[in-house]
Amino acid sequence: MACSEQSRVACGIGGFYTALAIESVLPILHSGPGCLFNVAGVLALANGRQSAITYYESSIPSTNFCEEDVIFGGVERLRNLTAKALEYYKTDLVIIVDGCTAEIVGDDIEEVANDFADSETPVIFASLPGFKGNNVWGHSQILNAIVDQYLTKPSKGVQKGLVNIFGVLPYYDPFWLGTLEQLENLLTDIGLTPNIIYGPGKGIEAVNQIPDAEFNLLVGPWVDLDIVEKLKVKFGTPYLHYPCVPVGATEIAAFIRAVSEYAKLDSEKTEAYIKKNEDRYYSYLWRFNRMGGVMFPQKFYVNASASAAVSFTRFLINDVGLIPQKIFISENVPEEHHAQIEKWLREPKYDGIKDYEIVFTDDGGLCDVEIKGLKSTDLELTRACLFGTTWDELTAKNNGFPFVSISAPYGDRAVVNKSYFGYDGGITFFADLYNDCIYKFLGSGSVANIDVQPEAALGADAC
Ligand code: SF4
Repeated sequence: MACSEQSRVACGIGGFYTALAIESVLPILHSGPGCLFNVAGVLALANGRQSAITYYESSIPSTNFCEEDVIFGGVERLRNLTAKALEYYKTDLVIIVDGCTAEIVGDDIEEVANDFADSETPVIFASLPGFKGNNVWGHSQILNAIVDQYLTKPSKGVQKGLVNIFGVLPYYDPFWLGTLEQLENLLTDIGLTPNIIYGPGKGIEAVNQIPDAEFNLLVGPWVDLDIVEKLKVKFGTPYLHYPCVPVGATEIAAFIRAVSEYAKLDSEKTEAYIKKNEDRYYSYLWRFNRMGGVMFPQKFYVNASASAAVSFTRFLINDVGLIPQKIFISENVPEEHHAQIEKWLREPKYDGIKDYEIVFTDDGGLCDVEIKGLKSTDLELTRACLFGTTWDELTAKNNGFPFVSISAPYGDRAVVNKSYFGYDGGITFFADLYNDCIYKFLGSGSVANIDVQPEAALGADAC
């Protein structure tokens, strides 16, 4: 369930953002008028100022479920709305979704979807009431609906090298678009044909190709595991499960080797690709000027989704040499995945790392409570880094901790195509962390803003 204090997940109806991420797929909401904007805050507006691929939120059809519908039911209005949407919207697939009130009064959205079984544009349904789960659960409901109700024909035949990509959760992962773009480029470079359903220029054609893939590639600790398992049963498609979106040189090299080996690609070409990109990666880090700069605090906290926690913890240990202090995973991960996620978090090792705690919770405020309770002697360097959401930015600011936003809600600033994926992503993250260290430890850097605070910058008696 979503938590109303410092929300880090939206409620189940937030799953409609997965439909919005697929070009020309139109969700129709059978829910209260406020539901859409409740989830838009966490998943879009305050999460990197994201918006639509095809349909802006303000143009999504909604029955705006009200008191009258609670008494008499809203099925008839939903049926009329769906008919009008099919008439006026240019769309490839309609997904009817409902929220809590429609679900509680027992409105049957399956029946309404079935009424349009002969429509030229397919109409399917997914129940997304917030009382059943959060937006991650809602995302799974949408993908399951597409696989169960839309992908009903058998594969036309396996296409060699075609790979479906799963595990990156659109909108909720603030970097999803940039990450998928870079992942697509990488897989193409090493000789595969990635099939990604989200983002501009993909859409229903990509969805239609799902059954024909040679294999499914799941990048992430647990989201979409149910989908690749279902596709294995339904179409016989095997899958490779890689634990995280790779960030930095160590992880991306391991990722490329794992994919290359699984797809039986030319290992010499794979190694040449890694060598070329590693040389470039380390040359950027080498030319980074440390003179008169600052050092990173050695320890770090994470308060984020499981996907972000695994990606960045592994990167920070492997490539930056920092030591995890405590990892909070605040998206209510189902218990059956905890042991595997913990194993992946503890895989990278070196001597400085002692045992550290991993906390699975739906209470995003625990990290703040933990840090507030620290005595200066609790941390060897008194300061640590913190990586999390825009809420954690406040905790970091109050304690002088360097901070980088890695998880929803990212903050009220544009992400656009930013990503920490791979080689370039590792360099960008390193720079973002360093810049916040400079800001937190040295003020705004070497330039004083004399326009804003002349008396502070020049002294009261100056001039
Ligand atoms: S919890 Fe229910 S009523 Fe509230 S926004 Fe989510 S779907 Fe709507």
